Amino acid sequence: MRSFTAGRFLGGQGRELPLRNPQRFSLYVAPKPFYLQYTSLMSYLGKTVAFEPLLDDLQRAARRAGFSTRTLCEAGGYPLLAFSRTSSPGSKSVYLSAGIHGDEPAGPLALLELLETDLPSDVTWHICPALNPTGCKAGERFSAAGADLNRDYLSLKQPEVRAHVEWLGDQDLFDLALFLHEDWEANGFYLYELNPSRTEFSAARPMIQAAGRHCPIEKAPHVDQNPVHGGIIIPTEQDLRRTDWPEALYVFTHHNRLNYTLESPSSYALHTRVEALRDAVLAGVAAVNLRP
Ligand SMILES: [Zn+2]
Repeated sequence: MRSFTAGRFLGGQGRELPLRNPQRFSLYVAPKPFYLQYTSLMSYLGKTVAFEPLLDDLQRAARRAGFSTRTLCEAGGYPLLAFSRTSSPGSKSVYLSAGIHGDEPAGPLALLELLETDLPSDVTWHICPALNPTGCKAGERFSAAGADLNRDYLSLKQPEVRAHVEWLGDQDLFDLALFLHEDWEANGFYLYELNPSRTEFSAARPMIQAAGRHCPIEKAPHVDQNPVHGGIIIPTEQDLRRTDWPEALYVFTHHNRLNYTLESPSSYALHTRVEALRDAVLAGVAAVNLRP
């Protein structure tokens, strides 16, 4: 395993790293079934992921990269997977997740790209590539039980979330946690930052810059009533008191003091969103890895 050099991924020579084969995503994606376009008018109507081959490739890539795999539970006959790879003592620990909303395919695909892209060996990695297996299979935001799993992390009613939380409880604190999402209403990339030490350190700007090499950064003044500045949303104290906890709030409360929810704009081509998410992740990890 080669060690990580930021320039290789972050345009240090002023070049972007293209996807090795953008066409490969045609293996996974298919248009939504016609009937779903009528039952899901309020959701993303684009491509949906062929989940079985993606799951196979994720597991194969993780194995090849030296990750151990745990199945946290089964949902609809599909495994909820967690991949881990430990580095030397004192190394930074990074947690990545995707696929909690099954209609946001760029997240799991970006994690596949990352697993296949020689991830830095001086970082301890924990990766949950598809937290909502039944939603990913159906290409729907909600799980087969009709739940938005990303609103269940305080009530812990859903078995997928309970299994995930139990696994999180076995892990040490994360130096960085990144949650990969997509927004079908956005016109550009943006992120939410949970970081009480923002004045001393933030990985937000490097991530926005990296994503901005592939797609525009959100310019709207507000997303869901949250002010956006340069693609960055800082949740308010009131946001933190909400009771429908997303994964980010649970991880922030129990496992980590620096986390980002990354949102790529669904209106752009899938490979563009994958590239934006992948490079934002690498930029965030590089920034945190350089932090003393
Ligand atoms: Zn989402």
